[in-house]
Amino acid sequence: MLRGCMMDDYPLTLTHLLERAGRLFPKNQIASRGPDGSIFRYDYGAYYKRTHQLANALTGLGLQPGDRVGTLCWNHHRHLEMYFAIPCAGFVLHTLNLRLHTNDLTYIANHAEDKVIFVDRSLLPLLEQFKDQLKSLQKVIVVPDDGPTPDGYTDYEDFIAGQPEEFTYPEIDERAAAAMCYTSGTTGNPKGVLYSHRSTTLHTMSACMTDTLGISERDTVLPVVPMFHANAWGLPFAAVMTGAEMVFPGPNLQPESLLDLMSAEKVSVAAGVPTIWIGILALLDQDASRWDLSTMRTMVIGGSAAPPSMIDGFRQRHGLTVTHAWGMTETNPLGSLARVKRYMDGWSDEQKLAVQGTQGHPVPFVDIRHVADDGTLLDWDGETMGELEVRGPWVAASYYNNDEQADRFTPDGWFKTGDIVTINSDGYIAITDRSKDVIKSGGEWISTVALENALMAHPAVAEAAVFAGRHPKWDERPIAAIVFKPGQQATEDDLAKHLEGNFAKWWLPDAYLFVNEIPKTSVGKFQKLKLREEHGDHLVKQEA
Ligand code: AMP
Repeated sequence: MLRGCMMDDYPLTLTHLLERAGRLFPKNQIASRGPDGSIFRYDYGAYYKRTHQLANALTGLGLQPGDRVGTLCWNHHRHLEMYFAIPCAGFVLHTLNLRLHTNDLTYIANHAEDKVIFVDRSLLPLLEQFKDQLKSLQKVIVVPDDGPTPDGYTDYEDFIAGQPEEFTYPEIDERAAAAMCYTSGTTGNPKGVLYSHRSTTLHTMSACMTDTLGISERDTVLPVVPMFHANAWGLPFAAVMTGAEMVFPGPNLQPESLLDLMSAEKVSVAAGVPTIWIGILALLDQDASRWDLSTMRTMVIGGSAAPPSMIDGFRQRHGLTVTHAWGMTETNPLGSLARVKRYMDGWSDEQKLAVQGTQGHPVPFVDIRHVADDGTLLDWDGETMGELEVRGPWVAASYYNNDEQADRFTPDGWFKTGDIVTINSDGYIAITDRSKDVIKSGGEWISTVALENALMAHPAVAEAAVFAGRHPKWDERPIAAIVFKPGQQATEDDLAKHLEGNFAKWWLPDAYLFVNEIPKTSVGKFQKLKLREEHGDHLVKQEA
C-alpha cells in the first residue's frame, strides 16, 4: 500500500466542535425556555466559558476517564453545556430517558454504572424514587430549573461557580466513548448504545450536509425531540459545530407553546416525532394567522412514519416543508432521508408525496441491504420485503456490556434493524412492518413482552398478547388480547390495577379484548400480525 501523506491521525473528537463554537461564533445566540415560560438567553461565547467551567468542575471530582455521567434533564441550555463538558473532559454523557418507569431507570443507571447524575430540580422527585438503589452513584448535581436547589444537594451553579473559564482538554482518542443512550426498542432489558467521539463527529458532519438536514450557521434550530432520545437526533452537536443558533423548549411540549416559540424565536429547523407535528398541524388548520412561520426552512419528522397526509397538509395548506427521516438509537441516529431526486421534478405532486412518505435513501456512509428470513440478500425491486440491515461509521457494532442480543450483529459486520422493508431501484426504503415485538407510541417504545408477562401473572389470565393498535395521535397504542382461565374472569379495571405501579402510566393498554383464543404460529408464538390485521383499528373505531 502506498500510504497517503495526510494527517490521518488527527483525532475526530467533540473538542473541535466546541472550540469552533467558542472561537468562531461567540456572538450567535442560544435561547432556553424554563418551566415557567421565561426565556434565558446567552451567546456561544458565554456558553463556551460556562462549558469549560463545568468541564473543570467535573475534572475536579476525580472521576476516571470513560466514567459515565448521567443526565436526567429536559432540553435546555445547561443540558447543552453537559453535552460537551462531559465528553470533552474525557467522561461519557449518559442521557437518561425521564419517561421510563423507575424500574427501568434503576436498571439502566446501574448497568451503565453512572457515578454522577445531573438532574433538573423539577425531576428530582423522580430521581429520589430510585437514587438509593444506584450502586455506583457518588454525586447528584441539581439544575435549578424551577426553583432553588434543596438542602443536601449540590447546585449546578454553585458547582461551576469560580471555576476557570479556560479548560485544558485531556488527550482523547477518537475511538473513546463520548455518549451513551439506552434503547428499549427490542425485547428484554434496555440495551446501551455507546457512541464514540469519532462516530458522533462523523454523524455531525453528515447531519450538516445540504442533502441531509443541511444545518448551517444561518439556521435557528429547535430540537423538540428530547435530548435524552438518541442525542436529540444529533442536532445539538450539529448546531455547536456550525454555530447555528439554538432554541430549547424546556418541559412544555404542547403544540401551542411550540408554535409560539417557533414564531417568536424565528426558528428555521425544528425536529420531532409525528405526534408533535399532528398536534401542530391541527392548530395551524384552525388559525394559522396566529403565528409567523416564514423563517421555517424545514420540519424534520422521524422516529415513526410521517403520514403522507400530514406532509401534504403542511405543504398545501401552510407552505411548510417536511423532511422525513429514518434512524435508530443504534445509528446515532440518522440513517436515511426521504428527499425527492432532481429527475423527479416533473412528477405529479402525488408521486412526489409517495416518495416523501418512504423512509428515504441512506445518507452517505450508511450502507443498506435487506435480507430474507433464510439470509438471502434481496433485490431492490420495491416489492420484496425483508429485514433492513445497515452498517457504517456511526452504526453500533455491539451493545454495551450485553450479549443478550448479539445476534442482531451479523458475522459479516451489519446491524439487523428489526424493520421489515422494501427497497426500490432508487434506493428508497419503505418500512412495511417490524420484526421486533414492540410498540412505538408518540416516539417512545413500549415492551409488549413485559406487559404480557405481567398480565399473565394475574390469577384469572391464561394468555395475554399485547399488540399495536393504530392511533390518530400517538401512532400506536397497546391493546391487550386476553384469554381467561376456565371459570375465571376479571374486568378491564382489575387488569389495569394489576399493571399499575410496575409500568409507566402511558405503557398501560388502551383497550382489553377478551377473546376465546389468541392466534398462534406453527411454533406456538402469538401471531401479532394477525391480531393487528383483525383488531388494529379498534381504537380508531372507538374514537370515531
Ligand atoms: P429509536 O431507537 O427509538 O429511535 O427507534 C428506532 C426505530 O423507530 C426504527 O427501527 C423504526 O422502527 C422506527 N422509526 C424511526 N424512524 C422512522 C420513520 N421515519 N418511519 C417509520 N419508523 C421509524
